[in-house]
This record gives sequence, structure tokens and C-alpha cells, in this order.
Amino acid sequence: MSPSPSRPARRQATSSGPQSGPQSGPQSDAQDGSLGASRPGTRRGPVSGRGLALAALALAVLLPAFSLAQADPVGERPKIDGERLVQTLGILAHDSMEGRQTGTPGGDRAQAWLVEEFERRGIPDLNGTRTMPFDFVPRGGDTELEGVNILGWIEGSVHPERYIVVTAHYDHLGVRNGEIYNGADDNASGTAAILEIAGWFRDNPPRHSILVVAMDAEEMGLQGARAFIAEPPVPLDRVVMNVNLDMVSRNEDDELYAAGTYHYPFLAPLVEEAADHSGISLLMGHDSPDLPPGDDWTMSSDHGPFHQAGIPFIYFGVEDHPGYHDPTDTADRITPEFYVEAVETALDFILLADRRGERILEERAALSAAAAGVGN
Ligand SMILES: [Zn+2]
Repeated sequence: MSPSPSRPARRQATSSGPQSGPQSGPQSDAQDGSLGASRPGTRRGPVSGRGLALAALALAVLLPAFSLAQADPVGERPKIDGERLVQTLGILAHDSMEGRQTGTPGGDRAQAWLVEEFERRGIPDLNGTRTMPFDFVPRGGDTELEGVNILGWIEGSVHPERYIVVTAHYDHLGVRNGEIYNGADDNASGTAAILEIAGWFRDNPPRHSILVVAMDAEEMGLQGARAFIAEPPVPLDRVVMNVNLDMVSRNEDDELYAAGTYHYPFLAPLVEEAADHSGISLLMGHDSPDLPPGDDWTMSSDHGPFHQAGIPFIYFGVEDHPGYHDPTDTADRITPEFYVEAVETALDFILLADRRGERILEERAALSAAAAGVGN
């Protein structure tokens, strides 16, 4: 994935200044069930005389609280353990993991450590299933290898039978020419992030089930995600959407991308809302087919096979940096403050998607009906 600066690949996500801060915990806030329009202005309709009096009264009561929220909207967002996040990245990117290539001792070590870490953190498995082994032939290879996806399941309180699938690949490039490719940003960062996200939802039960998947063999052709779609551990028609994190810990300009709204425009208002709550710049883009190949990230990581299966996705990732697929992608070169903020922003987005999962599924159904219509 190496973007060329030929044409702007990004669209600003933020609307004009922060709106009211997020409320903590998963609940449905869009009374009309809408996903909300992209925010040129307010969304509320006209009110009556009596309503005005009531509104004035409410304002008089709420004003101090509202202004507080305005002053520090970011403060209300879900928080993760930033220190543990960075520590976990450091463990996965440590030389002892030898760059975590699938099918090598380093890859096996990372896999074993992750399985134990899911247990240690009390992240439930999926009805007794923690690991999903799969066989594949690496891209450009001829020998069959085994990969292992690692699952965590947080049961939904309202729609336990529907799933938001949160993914990050834990494999990387291993050792090449005697040099370890530690893969701190790619993708120890995303793997450590989904552990924190699963832990947060364990303590704040979601409305829809959250299925967290540490994917294997992404570097060998998105093999873990392809295996997931080919033999899904849950029915694919029950998957609300995929949220994929790959390279979320290193950016000098405090810019994080959310790719996918070109294909799924109904997700743009949620990205905008998460952007408004965020302390970094959340940008939409890198997802339209008219961009030069390197600039279109639609198939650049594990969200690709979900998209091919008609499942909406948002992929969170940073622009390329000098450490991309290089031995210099090490833990000491990440930007920790940005990293914590990026993960909290992604968590906030997932929370918003959880609140509006019903509408996302409806939009997904409408999209596939339309696609089927085009096909006839
Ligand atoms: Zn990656």
C-alpha cells in the first residue's frame, strides 16, 4: 500500500465545529432510526409556542452542562488504557517475535501469546471457539501453509445474533536478509487496539454482538480474511459491518483515515460524528476507484474480502510513512499520543455504529437489493 501524491485522496470529515459531545455507553440515540445526514446544518424540524417555552426552560437548566460539553467534547468519549495499549504493541513488535511471519516460529510465538492474552483479559471466545485455523497457498507461493485467526466475542444485549466484526492482522513480514521486520505500526498497532476495544465493550455491553478477530496471513494476500468469508464462524447476512484497523500508531500530522464511505455513503455521518468528537483529524478518502491504484485502499487490507462479500466496511489507517514494510517500523518510532487518540476515535465510531446497527443492516440490504436489481 503506497499512496502517490498525484490527486487528493481525502475528503475532510469534520463538519463546522463540534456539536454536542458523545454520551457514554451503547444506546440508540437516533430516535427516528436515521443514520443522520452529512452535517451541513441542524437536523431538527420546527417547534410550537408551548414547545418553545419548554425548550427555553430546558435550556436554562441544561446550559451549564451543555457549555461544559462544548468546552471539552473529547473528554466524554470512551477511554482506553493507553499505557497498556502501547505496551502491548511493544510486546508484539519485540525482536523475540521475529516479525511474526505466518508459518514461522516468530508467527507461532505471536499467535500463542495472543491466545493467552485474550484469556488473560477475560475476552470470551465464540461459543467455545477461540482459534480458526485455515490452510492456504501464499500469494506467489506453491507450498500450503496454515494460518490461524483468533476470535473474541462480546455478546450484544439487544441483538446478540447480529455482529459488528472488528479486525486487525497480527502477522507481518518476518526476517529478511537477516533483518527483523518488527511491524510495530503494521500491524502490532491494530492488534493491540482490538484487544483494548474488546475489553472496553466487555465492560460496556454493546447492543449488537462485537466479534473481534486477530487475522493471520494478511501480508500473504489477505488470507485470514478470505478464510473468514469462505467459512464464516457466524452467518454473513447477520454481519452489520466490518471495522478494520491496520497501521494506526504513527503519523506526525495527527491525521487518521477512514476509508469506505465512497462505497457506503450512509456511513459518512457516523464518521463525521466520530471526527467531531476526536482530538485528531479524521479524514475520509482513499476509497474511490478513479484514484491511482496505490491511492485506493479498498482492497489493501482485511476489509477487502468483506467488501467483496457485500459487507459494509470502514478501514482506519494512516498514510504511508518511511517505516512502511521496512525494518525501521519499530516501537520506538510510533507517535503514542496520536495512537491512543486514533484508537479511541475508532472505538467511538464502533459505538456509533452499534447504536445505529439496525439502520446499517437496512442500508446494506437495500444496497444488495439494488445490486441484484442491476444484475437482472
Ligand atoms: Zn498491514
